[in-house]
Amino acid sequence: MTAAETRYDPDNIFARVLRGEIPNETVAESTHALAFRDIRPQAPVHVLVIPKGPYVDAADFGARASDEEITDFARLLAKVAASEGVDPASGGSGFRTISNAGTHGVQEVPHYHVHVLGGATLGRMLP
Ligand code: C5P
Repeated sequence: MTAAETRYDPDNIFARVLRGEIPNETVAESTHALAFRDIRPQAPVHVLVIPKGPYVDAADFGARASDEEITDFARLLAKVAASEGVDPASGGSGFRTISNAGTHGVQEVPHYHVHVLGGATLGRMLP
C-alpha cells in the first residue's frame, strides 16, 4: 500500500455517503463519480462532485486515479453545471469550482471533492 493510500480514511463522511450509510441529495451520478447538494449551501447552487474511489484531495486524485476515472469525473462536473443552469455555454450566468486540500486549504472532509457554486454573483476570493 502506498503512502497516499494509507492516508485515506475509509470512514470519512463522504466514504460513508458512498456506502449509503449517510443520506445525500443526489444531483447526478456516473460510473466513477457522484454529485450531491452540500448540506450547508454557501450559494443558491452548491453541489459537491466526488469520485467514488478512495482519493484524499485533488493532487492524490491526479496522481493515482485512472484516465477513465478522471475523464468521468470531469464529464459529471460539466453535466452538473449544465443541469443546474449555471454553465455559460448553455446560457447560465457562471459558476465557481473550489477544492480544498489539507490544513492550509482548510479541508474538512478528507475525500476529494469539488464544490460547484453559482446562482448568484460570488465574492472574489483571489487577489
Ligand atoms: O472544507 P471542505 O471542502 O472539506 O468542505 C466539506 C463540505 O462538505 C462542507 O461544505 C460541508 O457542508 C459538506 N458536507 C456535506 N454533507 C455532509 C458533511 C459535509 O455536504 N454530510
